Amino acid sequence: MASIDNLFENNKAWADNIENEHPGFFEELSKQQSPDYLWIGCSDSRVPANELLNLMPGEVFVHRNIANQVIHTDLNCLSVIQYAVEVLKVKHVIVCGHYGCGGVNAAMGDAQFGLIDNWLRHIKDVIRLHKATLDAEQDEQAKFNMLCELNVMEQVANVSNTTILKDAWARGQDITVHGFVYNLADGILKNLEVSVDGK
Ligand SMILES: [Zn+2]
Repeated sequence: MASIDNLFENNKAWADNIENEHPGFFEELSKQQSPDYLWIGCSDSRVPANELLNLMPGEVFVHRNIANQVIHTDLNCLSVIQYAVEVLKVKHVIVCGHYGCGGVNAAMGDAQFGLIDNWLRHIKDVIRLHKATLDAEQDEQAKFNMLCELNVMEQVANVSNTTILKDAWARGQDITVHGFVYNLADGILKNLEVSVDGK
């Protein structure tokens, strides 16, 4: 069985390393956070926000769930967005999906996985919404990739349609919502060019 002892050793080495390179880093950061970015990504262990953006602690506010979804009634996600937009005043909201997403893949099939099927229902709605486009793609891998991208685009629309973003834009707040997709196979992010700035 995997031990958790190494986690504390890893943590100590990590903190010592940062402190060596940036003396006083943690003490300074402990006083406040002022990230420019809110990241809404998948829970997948292979898609860690800070690491793949090469950003330090304090630079990105993060919300992750299975298949990076923004559901109209999800108080958890909405609370994160509200705090990021209204209190932290982030400049960019990034919805990031990834190719090979297990949640998206599960939503494409009919197998049952229990409670999570209810969460994945929302992706089945994305499939229904884009049925003609998806049906036109014969290659299964290409169709899977396409759905990963379409899911991100739908979540960008969902973020943009929250009262939180609409109110921010009505106030004249400078904030843009973006859709990215990450490739597990090479570690590279792609901008889907679906940014919305409320103007
Ligand atoms: Zn995923």
